[in-house]
Amino acid sequence: MTPFHVLPALDVYMLFYRRLNGLAFFFGTLLIDLEPVIYLLFGVPFPQVQLLFGGFARQGYHMITHNPFSIIVLVAPSMVLLAKLTESFGRRALYALFPGAEWVHYSWFHTYLSALFGGFLHLGWDITLHHDVNVGFPFVDVLNPFINSLAYSLVFPISLIMIPIAYIIGKRINQGTPFKKLP
Ligand SMILES: [Zn+2]
Repeated sequence: MTPFHVLPALDVYMLFYRRLNGLAFFFGTLLIDLEPVIYLLFGVPFPQVQLLFGGFARQGYHMITHNPFSIIVLVAPSMVLLAKLTESFGRRALYALFPGAEWVHYSWFHTYLSALFGGFLHLGWDITLHHDVNVGFPFVDVLNPFINSLAYSLVFPISLIMIPIAYIIGKRINQGTPFKKLP
């Protein structure tokens, strides 16, 4: 469930907010789920994807985006573009949402690393649950070896408990406050 990914992302953001382009990071960790949303809400059929070393990709809600290769070459670059477009055209709206925030400039590369971090954070949780995650995509079909229901069920409560702790530690090791900083 996409909205739950906000919790671990908040922990990480509050710990490292100064180092993260927040837009790219949250886009990376939330919008990676556009793929399942497209199948689930819009009834788009699963595509038939030829794997590079033979055979077809296993079909499922997470077949294309939820793997390291796609996060690096597809998800993170798209989120960088989206973040930079939002920075350019949505600056006023961002200031309206976070009044008095300080604007920090992040390079394209730094923005890319932030999106990458967001994407992998998302995958790190999803990979404990979803059998259709293929870490070999788009080369070979690899059955997901990281299914772990205990790990899956612990992420939510631990993330929740960690929020005030992450906030306090983050305030000590970063300048400013996490929600008075853009992007
Ligand atoms: Zn997901």
